[in-house]
Order: sequence, then structure tokens, then C-alpha cells
Amino acid sequence: MTRQLEALDPGRAILIGGIWRASESTFVVDDPATGRPLTRVANGTSADATAAVNSAATAFGDWRHVPPRERSELLRHAFDLMMRDADEIAGVISAENGKSSADARAEVTYAAEFFRWFSEEAVRGTGAYGVAPSGGARTVVTHHPIGVAALVTPWNFPAAMATRKLAPALAAGCTAVLKPAAETPLTAIKIAHLLEEAGFPPGVVNLVPTTSAAAVVTAWLDDPRVRLLSFTGSTAVGKQLLRQAADRVVVTAMELGGNAPFIVADDADLELAVDAAVVAKLRGGGQACTAANRFYVHASVIDRFAVMLGARFAAHRVGAATDGADIGPLVSARAVAEITRKIDEAVEAGATIAHRSPIPEGSGGYFLGPVVLTDVPADARLIVEETFGPVAPLVSWTDEADLLTQVNASEFGLAAYVFSRDLERALRISEEVEAGMVGVNRGLVSDPSAPFGGVKQSGLGREGGHEGLLEFLQTQYLSVDWA
Ligand code: NAD
Repeated sequence: MTRQLEALDPGRAILIGGIWRASESTFVVDDPATGRPLTRVANGTSADATAAVNSAATAFGDWRHVPPRERSELLRHAFDLMMRDADEIAGVISAENGKSSADARAEVTYAAEFFRWFSEEAVRGTGAYGVAPSGGARTVVTHHPIGVAALVTPWNFPAAMATRKLAPALAAGCTAVLKPAAETPLTAIKIAHLLEEAGFPPGVVNLVPTTSAAAVVTAWLDDPRVRLLSFTGSTAVGKQLLRQAADRVVVTAMELGGNAPFIVADDADLELAVDAAVVAKLRGGGQACTAANRFYVHASVIDRFAVMLGARFAAHRVGAATDGADIGPLVSARAVAEITRKIDEAVEAGATIAHRSPIPEGSGGYFLGPVVLTDVPADARLIVEETFGPVAPLVSWTDEADLLTQVNASEFGLAAYVFSRDLERALRISEEVEAGMVGVNRGLVSDPSAPFGGVKQSGLGREGGHEGLLEFLQTQYLSVDWA
């Protein structure tokens, strides 16, 4: 892997106008499975951020007029190249993020599919033609690329969060400046190389890895040529960026935190629900914004559910991806300490640990074994806050109205999961849950062809689906005189 990482030339990882540049300083990327440095990456500055906008703004002049079919074919080529290099990209993801090889490989496919989906959407330009009520004008509604788009991504899905933004931006005819998370810049560097190879013109995609996130993103938000900020990350940072974006009325798309309820009714197929819970909880070690965060299980089945879930968690080995483990480390030692504290607090408040998996000894990695807790109080931080780790707090319920009150008490509203054999009941509960996405008898909602996004403090806008393209387009109408 060291050889593959060095082949990315991370010391010259700032891509501006088709030129890969070094910087005065570099920063370290850790291997979370060992706690040791993997490599050093060029550390972008606010001057690099502005140079990236210069290049994106210049490239936009031509790129916006490139026929949709040509943009579509470049995106399709990017999909093919990602699939060609899928194993290598998965290795890079596992190295810097820690996720298991299976999770990393699944992420590559998911990420690549955004290029394929938006290569298909790129040629589905839509508009409208109407007769003004007075009869004296005709109205023609058209959509145009919004301009230079600033894209800011988190560490938990280093490939998919980048392609989920890049693909619709490029399909729409926007140019992009991308800032990956400092924990996981290497996957984004690899993707930028593939986009070059696919044939995207210089300046259409620019990359600024950095540890100075606030300085770089502020330079973008202050620059009048940047017309849109698409951000995925925590609600706290998202709110701060919304305030900054307000100064210039920058269009924003915000994919923020979640706190997904996982609801199991008394008539649920428990085998199915437990299978889905494993997917919804353990994917990426529980570090997904759509991860099931709190489990509301009907009182009549909660004991069986807890035993079944614990047994399934026990069958997942925790360790390094390079050792073929099923669940990798968390992103940092701080994350392990913080989640351990939340578990301890819940136990002090009356919760019981029904299952806890062991972790590898003496590896130096940031490991946390999956945990199942029962009798968790409703006000425990494990229930109220988003917990980015493999922890399943279980709460029992009996009355559907009370259940919905508890579920909807959260300030978040990203994903939710509902399990019942009675489809009418499952759909009724789903429609009452305040969430942008609901898995009905399924533990996975992410799909490039569907509009991903949240309500309440989980965000604004949608990524994927047809809606994902609209985020990067602005509407104009022509009022044509019709005497
Ligand atoms: P984060 O908010 O700390 O960081 C996200 C990105 O913002 C990173 O690139 C980071 O460098 C940058 N950033 C941090 N501080 C900044 C600042 N002051 N100004 C500008 N940029 C700044 O989040 P994270 O820890 O990387 O990711 C985890 C969070 O992301 C979780 O809350 C998770 O739910 C959320 N998330 C949401 C989705 C979604 O689609 N809704 C998807 C994945 C992750």
C-alpha cells in the first residue's frame, strides 16, 4: 500500500488548472488501524483556495457550453475508470479511513455509480413552455449551470461524498473546487487523477487538501465567483457555514448529521430486522450519517431482538482491514474515548450491556468493539446525540403514538428505519416519522438514483436522483412578447 500511496504523489496534491502543486508545508495522514503515519500531503492555503477559484472560473467559460452529451460521456468514462481501479481505490479508503475491505469495496461501487447515474442525467435537460394568462407573452423556462461550486466533504465516505457532489456538478456544467477532509485526502487525490485521465479539461475540477479548513472555505465563501457551497459534515460546522454564506447569499446544499431511529414493531420479521440492523449499524463501523442510532423495539420482542443482535455482532471480527477484519477502527482515539464515555454514562443511568465485542490487543489502533445496550434512558446522550460508532442502544415501546413522539423529539431528521410485516402499518409509521429517508423493512437507504437528504437540522437540499442535478442549476425564464 505504501507504494500505491506514494504513486499518488501526495506531496504535490493540490490540483489547480490541471497542474499538481506542492505547498510550503505538508500534513500527516494517519492509519487509524495502527495510529501511525501513512504519508504526508501538501497542505493547501487560502492563497491556493483563491488560485483554485481563478482556474475554476476561467474553465467555466468553456465548460458550461460543452454539449451535455460530451459531458455525459466523460462522466461515463470516469465510472469505467473507477471500476477498473476499484480494488486499488478500496485499498486507499481502508488505509486512511480504516473501514473493512468489504465496506471499502462497497463504497467504491456506490461512489462510482454517481458518475454513471449523472452521466445519464446530464442529457435529460428539462424546461417548460407556457402561455402567459394575458395571452400577450410566451414563457420559456430554462435551467443553467450555477457557476463555480465549492465542495466540502467529510472523512467517513471519502470516495462517495466526493463523487456525490462532483458528478452532478459536472453533469450540470458547473466547475468545482473540492476540499476533502484532512483525515482522508488520499481517496480524493486518486479520484482527481482519474477525472484527469477520463478527459475532463484542466480547471474543471480543482483540489485543495488542507488542515486549514476554515481559512480555505472562508476564502471560497468570500469570493464572488463562487456561487454555491455543497457541504457534507456535522450540523455544528454546517450552521456556521450557513451564517457565512448568508453574507453573499451563496446557494447552499447541506448534508448534515443524523440520529436515525430504527423501529421494530411486534409483528416484524425479526430475522429480517436483525439482518437489516447489522447493515444499518455496522457499515463503516457505525460511522455513517444514516447509521441506525437508536433502536425502538416493541416490548414483546425486545429481549429476543437483543440476543439475536448481540449474536450477530459477535460474529463480526474487529481489526485492521489488512487482517481481513469485518469492522475497522474508528477515525480517532478521541472518538473512541468520547463514545466510551457515553456508554459509561448510560450504564450509570441504568442501562445494561447486553453484548460487547472484544478488540485486538496492543495494535495501537482506534478500535471499539460493537456494543448492544438495553434499558437505555430516553435522555441518555446515546439516544439524544449522534454517535459515530458501533453502539446499539435499545429502548422498548408499546404505544405507537408515544413511540412517534419520542422518535420525532430529535432535532435531526435524516434517515429512519421501520420494520413490520403489515405494510400498511409500516407505511403509516414511515409517513409520520420526520426524516428525509425511510428504509421500510430495509437497512440501507443510500442509492445514487434516489434523492438523499434530511429534514430539520439534518440539512437542506438533496444529493442523487434527479433532484441532485437541480441543486447545481439555476432557473431563468424568458418572457417573449406575443403580440
Ligand atoms: P465536520 O463537520 O467536522 O467536517 C466536515 C468537513 O468540513 C471536513 O472537510 C472538514 O475539514 C470541514 N470543516 C471543519 N470545520 C470547518 C470550518 N470551520 N469551516 C469550513 N470547513 C470546515 O464533520 P466530520 O467529522 O468530517 O463528519 C462527520 C459528520 O458528517 C457527522 O455529523 C455525519 O452525520 C455528517 N455526515 C453527513 C452526511 C449526510 O449526507 N447528511 C454524510 C456523511 C457525514
